[in-house]
Amino acid sequence: MYPKKIIIAGGGTAGWMSASLLQHSWPNAHIILIESENIGTIGVGEGSTPYLKQFFKKLNIADHEWMPHCNATYKSGIEFPNWSETPGYESYFHPFFSPLDIETGEMFFKRAKAQKLGVCSNAHPDFYFVNTQIAQKCKAPISQRYPNLDIDYGYHFDAGLLTAFLKKRCLGLGLINVIDDITQVELETNGDIKGLVTNEHGVQNADLYIDCTGFRGLLIQQALNIEFISFKDNLFNDAAVAIQTPKESKSPITTSTCSTALSCGWAWKIPLANRYGNGYVYSSEFLTEAEAEQELKAHLKISPQDNVTVRHLKMKVGRVDKHWHRNCLAVGLSQGFIEPLEATALMLVQFTLEEFIEKYTNNDQRVKQQENFNNKVNHMIEGVRDYIVTHYKVNSKSNSPYWKKCREHTNISNNLAALLNAWGDPELFEDELEKQQDSLAYLRPSWYVILAGMGLFPEKAIQPNNAEDKHLQAEKYCIKVVNKLFPDHREYLDSMRS
Ligand SMILES: Cc1cc2nc3c(=O)[nH]c(=O)nc-3n(C[C@H](O)[C@H](O)[C@H](O)COP(=O)(O)OP(=O)(O)OC[C@H]3O[C@@H](n4cnc5c(N)ncnc54)[C@H](O)[C@@H]3O)c2cc1C
Repeated sequence: MYPKKIIIAGGGTAGWMSASLLQHSWPNAHIILIESENIGTIGVGEGSTPYLKQFFKKLNIADHEWMPHCNATYKSGIEFPNWSETPGYESYFHPFFSPLDIETGEMFFKRAKAQKLGVCSNAHPDFYFVNTQIAQKCKAPISQRYPNLDIDYGYHFDAGLLTAFLKKRCLGLGLINVIDDITQVELETNGDIKGLVTNEHGVQNADLYIDCTGFRGLLIQQALNIEFISFKDNLFNDAAVAIQTPKESKSPITTSTCSTALSCGWAWKIPLANRYGNGYVYSSEFLTEAEAEQELKAHLKISPQDNVTVRHLKMKVGRVDKHWHRNCLAVGLSQGFIEPLEATALMLVQFTLEEFIEKYTNNDQRVKQQENFNNKVNHMIEGVRDYIVTHYKVNSKSNSPYWKKCREHTNISNNLAALLNAWGDPELFEDELEKQQDSLAYLRPSWYVILAGMGLFPEKAIQPNNAEDKHLQAEKYCIKVVNKLFPDHREYLDSMRS
């Protein structure tokens, strides 16, 4: 069972990802995408999680077919400098995990457990994971020698070019693209959407409407009045400023996003093949637009005289109560947004679509399916939120009232409170992870990495340990594996282009 006619409202990344997956899953459906020439896309989502790999796999698009078109690079994880002032823990890397980490990963968990109990064990995550070394050594996470070695990776890409790539592909497969403004959403007497009124193309009707209209949520929020639940009580950032910077054409390319804590938020640096994407996500309660721009420019070493294009953005952080309501599904910023600290937005787009397609195809008990779907998406979003909140909650920065507020507020979920309370006790923490396993968006290794990486250990256990130690053996192993198996990132990308 599939809807015969579908209208997607909005042509940002969410709109064209929706078009791609719906077209793939329901090739006989008649799909129209309406997008406005007058209302731009947000255009800044340039980093992904490894989940995006599955998106391209599903569509049967190989990396070399899309990456060169989007100036894309590989991503092995995220570096977090300056989030902690604990000596030795001022920075850590959150890697994507791989089967190559099994032994060293176990060593890391064991050492973190010992260090929590006060035994100095060098439990900094940076020693123990292969993807950390891939990023440090500017390698590509693809083994030419062992092509079937399935190591997790994500991507960095130019969001505008990715949208253009997907659009061209969808149009080639028969999707209809209407360039027009939707001026009104007409409702049936029962509350379903009846049609979308456009400026020049009359009323457009369908069996199913996908709302990809961005933060405005034209269908789901404005027309269907679905409640928006704000996360502003524990995620204080509501604005961003973005600047692109050039890159030397022959310089090495890391596979790391860098997310540096600044005075009232954090700055991202994303390496694309041809340039860097940079931005500062901050709280407007603590910083004006002009101050944020100035601080970002100083961070990027851009002098006030330099002529650079600066984009200021507002962010609406939270989620809608229901993502699928009546004959409408909200996807992307219209369904909600969590600040991009772990670059999770497109993962949520993909997750929403995949779950929806599965539930819709299964025609049994539509109301029950809808309810299950909405609960599942909400759990996922809240799981991601809790992990993002953790970065702020456990910070040990002393340089601004902003960081103090992030650390001291008590508006955290019961799940997160239970995890943080349990961290100090190795057994209790494991029990808590197990208890929550169905609702966690981030798995055990990520929780160890963030809490150990920020140096949440008893003071006596974080003195440097000079003994020739297992952590060095773990690091040596990771370096050896990386040097042996993985090619230079830039050279690999260049070879893809040719
Ligand atoms: C600062 C920042 C950084 C981010 N970084 C990341 C990241 O690293 N990784 C990640 O995964 N995500 C990131 N995101 C999120 C990501 O940018 C979005 O999730 C993604 O681009 C999807 O946006 P969208 O398509 O939902 O909305 P938009 O890009 O806003 O698109 C909305 C579309 O709707 C159309 N539209 C709106 N109203 C009408 C109308 N009346 N008639 C016709 N058309 C209409 C517009 O023309 C446009 O085509 C970031 C977001 C922000 C704010």
